[in-house]
Amino acid sequence: RSARLGGIGTTIFAEMSALAAQTGAINLGQGFPDEDGPEVIRQAARDAITAGRNQYAPGTGIAPLREAIARHQRRFHGIELDPAREVVVTTGATEAVAAALLGLVNPGDDVLVLEPYYDSYRAVIQMAGARHVAITLRAPDFRLPVDELRAAVTPRTSAIVLNTPHNPTGSVLTPQELAAVAEVAIEHDLVVVSDEVYEHLAFARPHVPIATLPGMAERTVTISSAGKTFSFTGWKIGWATGPADLVDALMGAKQFLTYTSGTPFQPAIATALDLPDEFFTRLRDGLRERRDLLCAGLSDAGFDVFVPEGTYFATTDVAPLGFADGLELCRALPRLAGVVAVPHQVFHDDRPDGSNPGRTLVRWAFCKRTEVLEEAVERLRALR
Ligand code: PMP
Ligand code: GLN
Repeated sequence: RSARLGGIGTTIFAEMSALAAQTGAINLGQGFPDEDGPEVIRQAARDAITAGRNQYAPGTGIAPLREAIARHQRRFHGIELDPAREVVVTTGATEAVAAALLGLVNPGDDVLVLEPYYDSYRAVIQMAGARHVAITLRAPDFRLPVDELRAAVTPRTSAIVLNTPHNPTGSVLTPQELAAVAEVAIEHDLVVVSDEVYEHLAFARPHVPIATLPGMAERTVTISSAGKTFSFTGWKIGWATGPADLVDALMGAKQFLTYTSGTPFQPAIATALDLPDEFFTRLRDGLRERRDLLCAGLSDAGFDVFVPEGTYFATTDVAPLGFADGLELCRALPRLAGVVAVPHQVFHDDRPDGSNPGRTLVRWAFCKRTEVLEEAVERLRALR
C-alpha cells in the first residue's frame, strides 16, 4: 500500500454489507433501495444494449444525457448550463467528487468538509495530497456552526466540500447557513464542491443548490447521481455541472480515472431525468412516510432518534440502551437483532484525546420496503 493510502482502511459500507450477506441480517447499513427504479428506465437500458450501444461513450458523456442534465438543473433549480462545456457525466457521484478534488486541489492545500463526512471525501483529499479540515455538525440538531467554519479558513484553504441534504446526519442546510458558506467562499476565493446526491430527498425545507446564490455559480461544482434519485445505485451514473473552467479541470482528472462511464445506462438516465414532476414528488413523499415509520420504531426500541430533514438515513444515539460504542454495536447487531446499520464514528476524526463526537451514533437507512422496515423495528425491540 502506498503512503497516500496511509490510515485509509476498508470502507464501512463494504464491511457492513458483507456482514449482512454473511449473516442474512436485514441491511439498513449501506444506502441502496431494495426496489429498482421505474421499468421504463430499465427497458431504456435494455433497448440501448439491444441497439448496440455498447462501446465507449464520449468522455464527457453522450450529448442527450448532458442536455437532459442541463434541463433538469433548469427545471428544478433555475440553473442555466451549456451542456457542451458545463456538464460532465461521471461514474457515480463518487467519481465526480474524486475528479473534482484531484482536478482542483493542490498538494498541501486545506479542504473544509462537514463532519461527519461521507467517507470518500477524506480518502480522496488525502490521495490529492491535501488535508481535510472538519467542521462538525453536532447532535441533536446537526446545524452548521458558521463561526467555526469562518475560523477554520487558513491561507492554505482552497476548497469546501459541501453536502446537503447531508449524509449521514440528514440535515438540510438552511438559507442562512448556505449564505454563510457563500460569504466565506467568496471572501477567501474558495472553490465549492457541492455534493447534492439527495437533492430530491429534502423533507423539512426545499433543497437549494449553493450554485444559485449570488457570486457562487462561477466557483461551484455541483454533483449529483442517478443512484439515489432513480434507485439505480448499481448503474453508477453521476454528473458534475459548473463553470467551464472548473468542469474542464475535473475532466482533466476524470479522463485518466475511468475515461468514460457506462454507455447503455446513459440514454436510460437521460429518459429518467425528463420524468414528470410527480415522479420526484412521489419519491420524496414515499420516503418521508418510511422515515416516519422507521423513526417511530427506533424510538419504541429505546433509541434517541434524530429525525432527518432529508436523505434516506436516520441517526440514533444508542447510549440510552447501554451501548457505549456504535461501531462495536454495529458489528454485534446481526447477532443481537438480525439487523445491520452503520456507525457514525467512522465519518468523524478521532480527537487527540481519543474521543469521537460520533462514538454512540448509528445511522439506519429507510430506503427499504415497508414490510422490511416493520420487520427490522420488530427485531430491534429485542434490544430493550
Ligand atoms: N455522496 C454521498 C453523500 C452519498 O451518500 C453517496 C452514496 N450514494 C455518494 C456520494 C456516491 O454516489 P454514487 O453511488 O453515485 O457514486
Ligand atoms: N452512499 C451510500 C451510503 O452512504 C453507499 C455508498 C457506498 O457504498 N459507498 O450508505
